[in-house]
Amino acid sequence: MKIGILAVQGDFEAHATMLEQLGAQTAEVRTPADLEGCDGLILPGGESTTQLKFLQEEGLADKIVKFAERGGAIFGTCAGAILLASDVRHPEQDSLHLMDMTVVRNAYGRQIASDVVSGPTVLKKEPLEMVFIRGPVIERAGPGVKVLAEYAGKPALVQRENIMAATFHPELTDDTTVHEHFLSLAKARAKQPTNGGKSSS
Ligand code: GLN
Repeated sequence: MKIGILAVQGDFEAHATMLEQLGAQTAEVRTPADLEGCDGLILPGGESTTQLKFLQEEGLADKIVKFAERGGAIFGTCAGAILLASDVRHPEQDSLHLMDMTVVRNAYGRQIASDVVSGPTVLKKEPLEMVFIRGPVIERAGPGVKVLAEYAGKPALVQRENIMAATFHPELTDDTTVHEHFLSLAKARAKQPTNGGKSSS
């Protein structure tokens, strides 16, 4: 299982450490060619305006949309969730439009220190620890979007088919639950004939 991690800026290394701990191979993604052969892709936290500009300039935005259309698993955390949302506000911003949801930026947590809270999840019995760093709030989740975890009555971790988005940073805790769920999604998707397990075109 090889998972690409967008490595433009932000906290991509923490995702790599956690995925490798779970037995996955990881690859830093900076060009469309880097995505070849990946079974899944992580869009990490950081600053979504900077990341979007990079994706558009490097031709990665189109490549990621095609990867998703072929059934490749994608997980966006914080700024990555903003990139996936179909509707971005405060301020408004373009995106990859891969998840039918409205996000409002810079809603939870402070910029420098992190706010650590917990909330209910369907992924395990215990509450899930969540680290918020100027994260977006999901104000609307469209039909077909499953809520996997909540914080303060709002969706904090969502999934629709092969796409997952978190408004928090699961890579900054010791709990591997969310990454394990993403890896099982990537494995299941890689087995499907539409994807063929690879992103080779
Ligand atoms: N505030 C950032 C943005 O709007 C996201 C912060 C994060 O990824 N931790 O892009």
